[in-house]
Amino acid sequence: MKGINHTGEILYREYLDIVRDLKKYLERKMNGSSSDNLSLLEKLYREVKNCQRCSLYKTRTNLVFGEGNPDALVMFVGEAPGKEEDLQGRPFVGAAGKLLRKAIRTVGISEKQIYIANILKCRPPKNRDPQPEEIIACLPYLKKQIKIVKPKIICTLGKFSTQNILNTTTGITHLRGKSFTGNGGEIIIPTYHPAACIYRPPWREQLIADLKKVKMEMDKILSGV
Ligand code: SF4
Repeated sequence: MKGINHTGEILYREYLDIVRDLKKYLERKMNGSSSDNLSLLEKLYREVKNCQRCSLYKTRTNLVFGEGNPDALVMFVGEAPGKEEDLQGRPFVGAAGKLLRKAIRTVGISEKQIYIANILKCRPPKNRDPQPEEIIACLPYLKKQIKIVKPKIICTLGKFSTQNILNTTTGITHLRGKSFTGNGGEIIIPTYHPAACIYRPPWREQLIADLKKVKMEMDKILSGV
C-alpha cells in the first residue's frame, strides 16, 4: 500500500511538472516571446536576403534588413539604406544614423528597447529618392516586420516612411508634431529624417522634441497609464 502511495506521489509530481511546463509554453505563445519573434524575423530575413523584386538588387552591396529588439516597444522606420549602411548591411550607421542614435540616447531611450528598419532594404544609387515601384515591391517586408515585432509605437522618419505608413500624400512638415493611431492600435509619431536634420540644424530641435514624445508614450505604456 505504502509502495502504491509512493508511486502515486511520483506520478502526481510528474503530472504537476507537465502542467507547469505546458503553462509556460502557452504563456510564451500568447505573449509572442522574444525567441518566437526572433526566429520569425530570422525566417523572414532568409526569405528577403536574395530578393530581386525590384532593380535595386543589381547595385546593392548588402541588403539592409533591419535590427534591434525583436520585442521592441518602439520601431523606427526610415527611408532606405545609404552608402555606409549598404557597405555594413546595418541600418542607420552613417552620419544620419549617428545623429539619430545620439538623439535617441539624449531623450533617454535605450537602443535595447528599439527596432530599426527602412521602407527599402536596398540602397538606391547615389541615395536618390525611392521610386514608387520600389516601394510597392519592398513595403510588404516592412509590414511583415511590424506584424512580427508588434511595436506599440512607430516613429516614422521623413516623408517616404511617414506617407507610406500613414497612407497619405500630406507633407512631413504638416504631419510631424502630431500623433496618429495605426490600424493595429499602435501610436504613430512622425518626425524628420535625421539626414535632413544634418543640413537644417533647426530641425534637430524638432527631432528631439518628437523623440521626447516617443519617450513619453513609452513611459506611459510601461507604467500602465
Ligand atoms: S529594395 Fe526591397 S524589393 Fe527591391 S530588391 Fe531590395 S529587398 Fe527586394
